[in-house]
Amino acid sequence: MLSTQYQELYNNLIGTIDSKRMFHDPLHTLAYGTDASFYRLIPKLVIKVKDESEVALILKECSKLNIPVTFRAAGTSLSGQAISDSVLVIAGNHWTKYKIDENGLKIKMQPGLTGAKANSLLASYGRKIGPDPASINAAMIGGIAANNASGMCCGTSENSYKTVDSLRIILADGSVLDTSSDESKAQF
Ligand SMILES: Cc1cc2nc3c(=O)[nH]c(=O)nc-3n(C[C@H](O)[C@H](O)[C@H](O)COP(=O)(O)OP(=O)(O)OC[C@H]3O[C@@H](n4cnc5c(N)ncnc54)[C@H](O)[C@@H]3O)c2cc1C
Repeated sequence: MLSTQYQELYNNLIGTIDSKRMFHDPLHTLAYGTDASFYRLIPKLVIKVKDESEVALILKECSKLNIPVTFRAAGTSLSGQAISDSVLVIAGNHWTKYKIDENGLKIKMQPGLTGAKANSLLASYGRKIGPDPASINAAMIGGIAANNASGMCCGTSENSYKTVDSLRIILADGSVLDTSSDESKAQF
């Protein structure tokens, strides 16, 4: 049973987001209440998002209602940064589009691609992504970038922050900033 504030959020989202991808029952919220850390926070609402417009809507509605939002990719974080006692938004398995540019020098990825998959795509160009967390087979680009993941080989010189060229960001009011686009930057 959702509290009034979260019920209002749910009602505002249900017209756009399929209820099959929004969970607030005890079993699902318990299951999503843990990541690879030893903390537990039970979310009120778990939403598996399918595209940017859904993320924009969630952020806008949560912002209006003053409800905190946490994102999760693969949930391998060790310090509790992929759990929430509020709204947990999952941009994982279905966010796997990518585009390789400049003969493998750059790869544009959605947040649900695992680091290992990115490396397998770049292998034929003789390249790999900078960050090499030991969790690379499970960790996804959204989490790798947001955590500034690094690893035994990349150290601090080729970690996520040092090797990200541009980002497509959805802001709290639902607007989108694509730092690779001059037009988007001008609009911002
Ligand atoms: C066995 C093991 C070994 C590890 N080894 C390393 C290592 O060598 N180096 C290292 O740096 N880390 C390591 N980690 C920690 C962790 O795996 C990495 O930091 C990894 O990059 C997290 O990726 P993830 O997909 O699991 O992200 P998650 O844990 O799901 O999320 C990480 C952060 O990113 C945010 N986030 C996720 N997706 C998005 C999005 N789309 N938009 C905005 N924010 C988003 C989350 O809110 C959270 O704050 C290890 C963990 C384990 C369990």
